[in-house]
Amino acid sequence: MVDRYCNIKYLIRLCIANKAGCMSVYHYFCNNMSPSDISRKMGVSKHVVRGYIQRGERGVKDLLVMGTDPCRIMYTINSMFLVDSSDGMYKCPICGRKVESKGSLMAHVRIDHKDVVDNIITNMILKEVAGKPTPTQSS
Ligand SMILES: [Zn+2]
Repeated sequence: MVDRYCNIKYLIRLCIANKAGCMSVYHYFCNNMSPSDISRKMGVSKHVVRGYIQRGERGVKDLLVMGTDPCRIMYTINSMFLVDSSDGMYKCPICGRKVESKGSLMAHVRIDHKDVVDNIITNMILKEVAGKPTPTQSS
């Protein structure tokens, strides 16, 4: 079965667990910044920024199709979950567990905090679009 919210879930996980990833997508789509400007601002390579934008783009488009404002949603989620990586470790903003890389943190959120991501979809996104069309279910 195809999860029709899989692109949006990826974007939500990015906003929870990967500040550089979230801000790359946000600056690109919401502030019309170029990948090289974002790369300088976030201190990550242009190649990495492009990767985030490419993967985040599908979630942004799905949110637009649903009739929501992706910029406001990304901003809200990012401000709910601040990532602290001051000691070189990446701390989960939900349970406080520390992992060694952004990738591990994304995986941890995907596996252990599925319910948080589902709740954001149900209580933030679906509530907002109640009555509006949702992406068509593949059957
Ligand atoms: Zn956690």
